[in-house]
Amino acid sequence: MTSSLIESGFPVSSSAEAARRPVIFCDFDGTITENDNIIAIIRRFNPEGWEQIAQDTIDQRKSIKQGVGEMFRLLPAALKDEVIDYSISNAVIRAGFQELLDYCKAENIEFFVTSGGIDFFVYPLLSRFGIPEDHIYCNSSDFSGENIEIVWPHSCDEECPNGQCGMCKTAVIRRFAADKHDRILIGDSVTDFEGAKLADLVFSRSHLTTKCRELGLPHVEFTTFHDVVASLKERQQLQKAGERP
Ligand code: MG
Ligand code: ZN
Repeated sequence: MTSSLIESGFPVSSSAEAARRPVIFCDFDGTITENDNIIAIIRRFNPEGWEQIAQDTIDQRKSIKQGVGEMFRLLPAALKDEVIDYSISNAVIRAGFQELLDYCKAENIEFFVTSGGIDFFVYPLLSRFGIPEDHIYCNSSDFSGENIEIVWPHSCDEECPNGQCGMCKTAVIRRFAADKHDRILIGDSVTDFEGAKLADLVFSRSHLTTKCRELGLPHVEFTTFHDVVASLKERQQLQKAGERP
């Protein structure tokens, strides 16, 4: 584990690093939950034409905002209860999530959920973990029209190189100045790509691991949040060792 941390290239030893306050930005779909809830919902209700939109989004031919908006627009708003029930009952929380939250609390590490997912499943699935609502960023939904319309309360700021994130992780991350914060991102896929470029450390799985390798970003692969906690503990120890004269 130690060698993998050091090989990953993230800064562990200077006292300046240790002085910065750690803050975690954690993705939801495919990260806190084992699967991508958006894809699971769309696949379950299977409206005509969704596969191409999904593929175009994953391959970045369509923006996330455009792709997710278009996929939900294929579903009639009358399916509201079924869509909500399905998304909540289908999701599985990844092992170790509570342990990570406990660790953050004990170590005074601020923890934010930065999700490209939708309010109607993100909030209910997180309700038992007691994360303050102002620490959860996600998209909203409107069932008042003919079809499901996704609403974007946390769109990109002018500095976002992407401009069409939907829920803009880089805008959230930039509120925590790089010189005062040790910015840690946990994620799995396309909604995390831009944020990963800003982070001091990335915990990655799946497509995000591939992207980090491609861009040479400091990252540690994880399977469960137990892995993340173990790695954070180890990093903290290395930082403390680095502070000693
Ligand atoms: Mg994800
Ligand atoms: Zn953005």
